[in-house]
Order: sequence, then C-alpha cells, then structure tokens
Amino acid sequence: MLRWMLLQAADNPTLAAFARSSSLVRGVVDRYVAGESIEDGIAAASALAAGGIDLTIDHVGEFVDSMEQAEQAAEVYRRLLEHIGDRELPAGVSVKPSQFGLLIDRDACVALIHDVAKRAAAAGVHVTLDMEDHTVTETTVRLVEEAHAAGATNVGCAVQSYLHRTPEDVRRLTRLGASIRLCKGAYAEPAHLAHQRPVEVTRAYLRDARYLLREATEPRFATHDHKLVGAIKREAAELGRDRGSYEFQMLYGVRPDMQRALVADGYRLRLYLPFGSQWYPYFTRRLAERPANLVFFARSLTAAPRPDRVEEPETASSDQAW
Ligand SMILES: Cc1cc2nc3c(=O)[nH]c(=O)nc-3n(C[C@H](O)[C@H](O)[C@H](O)COP(=O)(O)OP(=O)(O)OC[C@H]3O[C@@H](n4cnc5c(N)ncnc54)[C@H](O)[C@@H]3O)c2cc1C
Repeated sequence: MLRWMLLQAADNPTLAAFARSSSLVRGVVDRYVAGESIEDGIAAASALAAGGIDLTIDHVGEFVDSMEQAEQAAEVYRRLLEHIGDRELPAGVSVKPSQFGLLIDRDACVALIHDVAKRAAAAGVHVTLDMEDHTVTETTVRLVEEAHAAGATNVGCAVQSYLHRTPEDVRRLTRLGASIRLCKGAYAEPAHLAHQRPVEVTRAYLRDARYLLREATEPRFATHDHKLVGAIKREAAELGRDRGSYEFQMLYGVRPDMQRALVADGYRLRLYLPFGSQWYPYFTRRLAERPANLVFFARSLTAAPRPDRVEEPETASSDQAW
C-alpha cells in the first residue's frame, strides 16, 4: 500500500512543485541524483570512472508536454555525448522514450532517438531505452527493433521481470542481438499484467537471468538484491562465463557497499547516474523501492543528515546463498 501511494505521488504535480522548491528535500535528493547540470553529471561520472566503475548517464525527465521540450531534452543528450566522447568516459546514456515525446509524436520521437543513437555510435557508446510503465512496453521493444533495422545496433532497452510478458520480450530482443538490461520493474502495475508479490518478481528475475546467461552475448543485470547477485555469479561460473562477458548495474547512491565489493572482486559494474532538474518522479520511485527510505527521508527533514546515516543498514553478503 505504501509503495502504491508513493508511486501515485510520483505523478502528482503539486507535490513535485513543493519538493522542487524545498532545500531540505534537495539535501536528500543529492543521495540519488548527481546534481542538476551536465557539468555536475560529468564530474560525478569522471570520479566514478576513476574508481573502475562504468556508467549509463540519464538526464532525468519523462512524459514531456510538447515536442519542443522533447527537442530540448535531446539537445542535452547531444551535449552529454560530446562530453563523454571528449573525455573518453566509459559511459553510455539512458533515455526515457516519453522524454523524447513518444506519446505526442511517435515519428518525431523515433527521429530523435536515431539522431542520439548515431552520435552515441560515433562516441563508441550504447543507448539504453529505459522501460517505463506498461502503456509503452510494446512500443519501446518496437523502437529497439526499428533502431536495429535502421542500422542503430547500439540501441537496447530495459526489461522488467515483474511483467508476465517479459520472457517473450527477452527472447525477441536476444534474437535481435540487442543489449538487454534486466530489472525487476519500478512502476505500480495491475495484477493481470505483472507479478505482485516480491518473491514472484525475484523468481521471475532469476528465470530471465538464467536465459540471458545462456543465450545473450553481454547481458546486463540491474539489481541490488544480494541473493540475485550471488545466484547470477554462481550460475555464470557454472556456465564457464568470463566475468567480463556480463555486467551488474546499480543505481547511483544505492548499496555503495555492494558496488565497491563487486569492483574489488573483478566484476564489471555500471552505475545508472541521473542528473537534471526534473528529478521528482525518479526520486519518488527510489523512495517507493524501500520503505526504510521514508524514515531516512523524514529524519533528514528534521535533522541535519550525518554521513553515518547514509549507508544502508542491511549488511548481508552479496555472496550469500540463494
Ligand atoms: C541500473 C538500473 C536501471 C534500472 N532501470 C529501470 C527501468 O528502465 N525501468 C524500471 O521499471 N526500473 C528500472 N530500475 C529499477 C528496478 O526496476 C527496481 O525498482 C530497483 O532496482 C529495485 O529492485 P532491486 O532489484 O534492487 O531489488 P530490491 O529487492 O528492491 O532491493 C534489494 C535491496 O537493495 C536496496 N535497495 C533497492 N532499492 C533501493 C533504494 N531505492 N534505496 C535504497 N536501497 C535500495 C535495499 O537494501 C534492498 O533490500 C533500474 C534499476 C537499476 C539498478
């Protein structure tokens, strides 16, 4: 129920306006969002890259109201890709199709995606389409297929293990040779479309991960779930997969302890690094993922946050048995 309420709040413009004007909220947001400007994002990316971490950089924003806003968002990505190319950062970009105007003018959105993909290819990097809610799942998979048909083979997308349709999408995208980011899914979806119980979502994730480890060239596992991380490592080792042939992905600010441990153990790690001013829906989904975050959030609004409160209380080893 709490998760559902928070996910509804992610779409509330009044709450968004309040949150964006509050300096107290901003203090907590900094944990998840690397500043508002391109320079902030690039500075954070450069520091993380120096520590052996790859990135996928996201200019936060979604469901724009006009194609003018979509064009402005694409322009930020063009500049971002110039920075990535100039600095030879180990960073791709993550894009939400609705931020490029998918629900306003599909053809114009496709043109923006292909333009950004072409520039990303010139910089030698990937474009990952984030998977949004179920209203755009099929369209997003088709956008990847159309990009590949047009020669933009550096475009892939996320898939969400909570959706019942995902095993078929995973096969479809694997046959295409597209890069796939497997995640659990962050939206409130109805029971006829998505698993509702965490245990079912996790079971589905493991099933999809097993398929990808067997069939995909370079699968990307986006999770902070230590049991899943442990299971994927073991399964990959049993299949004789090289540690460099797949990667884990995590969110900026979430489980830095696990992030450090993976890199120290020689696993590939890519962080999803968001920056930009339209952080409210992204931030609210992060709160919804972990009820304890609300306590942390409330405390931060009433007291100056102390560094020792920022780390996750959970200490389970990422190698713990499944
Ligand atoms: C790189 C990346 C890209 C993603 N892209 C998409 C996408 O395109 N579409 C989409 O729908 N979803 C996306 N997600 C979000 C994803 O679907 C989940 O909502 C999110 O990752 C939480 O699931 P989990 O696998 O980490 O497992 P959980 O069981 O939710 O979490 C495991 C543990 O991780 C920690 N944790 C997880 N989330 C948080 C948090 N927000 N704050 C603090 N601690 C936390 C907690 O310790 C928790 O116990 C992405 C996630 C990642 C890591």
